[in-house]
Amino acid sequence: MIRAGSLIDGSSGSPRKNQLILVRGNRIEKVTEGSAQIPAGAVLIDLSAATVLPGLIDSHTHIFLWGEDPAKGGYDDNILKAGIALRAARATFACRRALEQGFTTIRDLETEGAGYGDIEIKQAIAEGTIPGPRIFGATRAISTTGGYNLEGYAPELDMPKGAQLVDGPVEARKAARQQLEHGADWIKVYMTHRSWVDKQGNLVSQPTLTLEELKAVVDETHGWGKRVACHAYNGIGLQRALDGACDSIEHGLEITDAQIAQMQRQGTWYCPTISPYYGDWAPADTPGGRRDRARAAVHEASFKKALNAHLKIVFGTDIGGMPWTEPIAQEFQRMVGLGMAPMDAIQAATSRAAEMLDMMGEIGVVAPGAFADIVAVSGDPLKDIGILEHVRFVMHDGAVFKNEITK
Ligand SMILES: [Zn+2]
Repeated sequence: MIRAGSLIDGSSGSPRKNQLILVRGNRIEKVTEGSAQIPAGAVLIDLSAATVLPGLIDSHTHIFLWGEDPAKGGYDDNILKAGIALRAARATFACRRALEQGFTTIRDLETEGAGYGDIEIKQAIAEGTIPGPRIFGATRAISTTGGYNLEGYAPELDMPKGAQLVDGPVEARKAARQQLEHGADWIKVYMTHRSWVDKQGNLVSQPTLTLEELKAVVDETHGWGKRVACHAYNGIGLQRALDGACDSIEHGLEITDAQIAQMQRQGTWYCPTISPYYGDWAPADTPGGRRDRARAAVHEASFKKALNAHLKIVFGTDIGGMPWTEPIAQEFQRMVGLGMAPMDAIQAATSRAAEMLDMMGEIGVVAPGAFADIVAVSGDPLKDIGILEHVRFVMHDGAVFKNEITK
């Protein structure tokens, strides 16, 4: 039994004061007014000085990335020098980090060369071997020849790749089948790869899969009752992602008005992952530096357009691309800073994400029947969204994982 001073339940438009949440096993049984009778034998956790929320959901993570410093070999070193056991140990750390920050569910959008490791980590969590969030894993992800790292090595070397590369609709469908067979909850497709700034100062992104290739992936995946996430920055690749009827656009740095309208029509989810595009810019007078600044500028405009059009926006960070030691909840400040209402930002990380994950009513909400994934902060996140970087109580699947409020 939890007494909540204030409850933001994840789906209602406003908080409710003084609520009692009855948890039985790993589910929430009842949510009542605080004056209700406490059942005999119930253990009371008194969070009456705190704001209670549903466990948070990060819809774009990489537990198998380590925020590699480019100066120390960057992305390539992770694949070339870290063995699979080291990578699994780091993924275990990442899962603990997510949970202790109140993220009780993650959609992990590919393992970057670590095969089906996400599904194995998920098994280890489910059997209670290690602590961690609920994982919706995408396994290996799909791109094309010339469409993913490792690259830039001598052509006679056969380098490992961070994604499964396909050419042609037959290979594309086969990759989706292989990944689904081995437990993928989502299929992740890279629809753009390199990006640069052209002579006119516009951001340009290299497209990868053809429409025909993507349609084969989407058709196969939807047949299994699963969904497709498309990494797409802008331009041709983003257009193909939408024409191919993908379910979510990842990053979506530069979305035209017509593409916004198409997303509205098709009900496409938008996972903007704003934070990673604001740090680590290359110097202003270099091609990389121009690209980094152009990306942030168009991204901001796209996010505002998406807000105005009431697109279905979910909270996602791309953490792993940034080090796991950084606060995951920093993305809330980015979203609110660009004009999103704090309650909408919270719902993007709770009930809206649950809807995208086809888990409505089960996660992302404090309501009868939902899994008992419950967190709390000291203070009011609607007044100061930054408070969500300091989650002080975490219950996951009915068990208290962290409690700094009532000792
Ligand atoms: Zn990512």
